[in-house]
Amino acid sequence: MTITSSVDTRIQLLAKDGQDGSTCSPDLVNEPWTFDLQAPSYGPGASMADPIPAASPRQGELPEEYRTASAAELHERILAAKATLGDSVVTLGHFYQRDEVVQYADFVGDSFQLANAAMTKPNAKTIVFCGVTFMAETADMLSRPDQSVILPNLAAGCSMADMADIDSVRECWEQLADLYGTEPDADGRVPVIPVTYMNSSAALKGFCGENGGIVCTSSNAETVLEWAFERGQRVLFFPDQHLGRNTAKAMGVPLEQMPMWNPRKALGGNDDATLTDARVILWHGFCSVHKRFTVDQIEAARVAYPDVRVIVHPECPMPVVDAADEYGSTDYIVKAIAAAPAGSTFAIGTEINLVQRLAAEYPQHTIFCLDSVVCPCSTMYRVHPGYLAWVLEGLVEGEVRNQVTVPASVTEPARIALERMLAAKPNTTMAA
Ligand code: SF4
Repeated sequence: MTITSSVDTRIQLLAKDGQDGSTCSPDLVNEPWTFDLQAPSYGPGASMADPIPAASPRQGELPEEYRTASAAELHERILAAKATLGDSVVTLGHFYQRDEVVQYADFVGDSFQLANAAMTKPNAKTIVFCGVTFMAETADMLSRPDQSVILPNLAAGCSMADMADIDSVRECWEQLADLYGTEPDADGRVPVIPVTYMNSSAALKGFCGENGGIVCTSSNAETVLEWAFERGQRVLFFPDQHLGRNTAKAMGVPLEQMPMWNPRKALGGNDDATLTDARVILWHGFCSVHKRFTVDQIEAARVAYPDVRVIVHPECPMPVVDAADEYGSTDYIVKAIAAAPAGSTFAIGTEINLVQRLAAEYPQHTIFCLDSVVCPCSTMYRVHPGYLAWVLEGLVEGEVRNQVTVPASVTEPARIALERMLAAKPNTTMAA
């Protein structure tokens, strides 16, 4: 782990030395606890302009000793706590997490890889998930009843997951039932199947489990849509419109049969005929990290590096995916770079922490982020070694801080939706 080449280091250098480049917010130089006691917000970074739900979890004040400790002191304290806790705790670090935190992770990967990786540690009583809320919820739902899951900063939500709340989805579902009825067609296909992206609340996964629906990841979205089309005439896809559109388009669904559902409008802003003709109804949600990537950035990369291989994440808008050479999940991106011949050049459209880490890990390649402005995920940013030290030392003292718990009434149906996904593509489960 090369902390000297981390995104945090780059942000501090950009602020101090006026090096080439810029950040999307001057507030990124501040430590995340600066924002915990302010009015709820996602904090600086890509989601800073997104409206945050009023009921979003808040993080209480981090004790002063953790806010004032130097990086070296936090390092010693985290290592000491981990050594004391041994196998009783497993620490997970998402690909988009800062290197200053990822260096302590026992596993690094995407959200579902990590939830599964934790299961390979049977002695772990506690899972510390250095990621965001929906990831900790998924880990809790997949973990044993005697295990607890901790999110080091409770304000680390996900702006995209927050764009589809359970009440709005239920309202949408009722409107669609009024329009379509509930009877299957002659082939036994129900009028509509709900499909939720892994990046959604546990409540939405539970909703899918209760209503014949399924969960997908960015790796298996096409397989999951095939599963849904075998059982339903249409799909209601939430919360990420871009993953839904990019996947359905690649499967040959015409754009005019993919209307958008805006939860603030009657019938989502559509008429009866459009919804009747729909194959995929896309929820009006998006990831503000991936929305930053543009076709202009891809064109500029091709001018600067004629041999460049442009790979973007399917959460990017459709024109960006169309202009790229390839698109795929974080796992796809990591594997593509690992398999490339030395001297390859990559322009990557995903979160900057992962891109910069890959650039440091593969010095034989030229790897850069499509967006030259440093703009990390706002909610991943809310996790910092100070919080990690605080929750780990709490465990040493016998206290479980910041536990994330999903009620059994949600876990049960959500697991059904997750199991359908695994049955649709058994090899979705993979260790990090
Ligand atoms: S990168 Fe986007 S989808 Fe992932 S946690 Fe951040 S806001 Fe959510």
